[in-house]
Amino acid sequence: MQIRRLKLSGFKSFVEPAELRIEPGLTGVVGPNGCGKSNLLEAIRWVMGESSAKSMRGGGMEDVIFAGTAQRPPRDFAEVVLSAADSQGEELEVVRRIERGAGSAYRVNGRDVRAKDVALVFADAATGAHSPALVSQGRIAAVIAAKPAERRQMLEEAAGIAGLHVRRKDAEQKLRATEANLARLEDLMAGLD
Ligand code: ATP
Repeated sequence: MQIRRLKLSGFKSFVEPAELRIEPGLTGVVGPNGCGKSNLLEAIRWVMGESSAKSMRGGGMEDVIFAGTAQRPPRDFAEVVLSAADSQGEELEVVRRIERGAGSAYRVNGRDVRAKDVALVFADAATGAHSPALVSQGRIAAVIAAKPAERRQMLEEAAGIAGLHVRRKDAEQKLRATEANLARLEDLMAGLD
């Protein structure tokens, strides 16, 4: 998957709508301390379905919404749009929006979807909010200190099989529901005898 464009509005320090084109090859983001370089990487992780506010350096998920400054009032929502090309070269547009008091909503190619669906799109492409390809500050030290199970998770994400765990959990849930239905059916049939 190749990320081509990122649009941010009301996301952290990006109060005004901002658009970044990411050209093939190496992209560098430079700027003084505190200008929002890490916020950009966080925007990519967030639109990919990041669910941990802590890993977005916030106390709650609404902390990603522009909080206001002495000169500017806070915003009511934050939105990030990621445009990418999948491995077949097909265009993919993912939108995540959060509104105060209303939580997050996602769209993939114009269709409303669940957070889980977005996570699966990226997991299947061997990327996503926890992809080892997104290296935030302090991440290298975290990898060195990681427990074996955590390292395995990183390897599974890099290998693109993380999505299988989600599908397995779904399948197990359906299986349990079906077993419960079957047991109920047997009870009902026993009552008819
Ligand atoms: P460094 O080079 O020091 O690592 P950086 O360029 O990576 O800095 P970031 O950490 O991305 O900078 O940006 C931090 C800035 O974003 C701070 O000025 C902080 O006040 C601002 N910021 C973070 N969240 C919000 C928010 N919800 N509303 C407004 N500003 C925010």
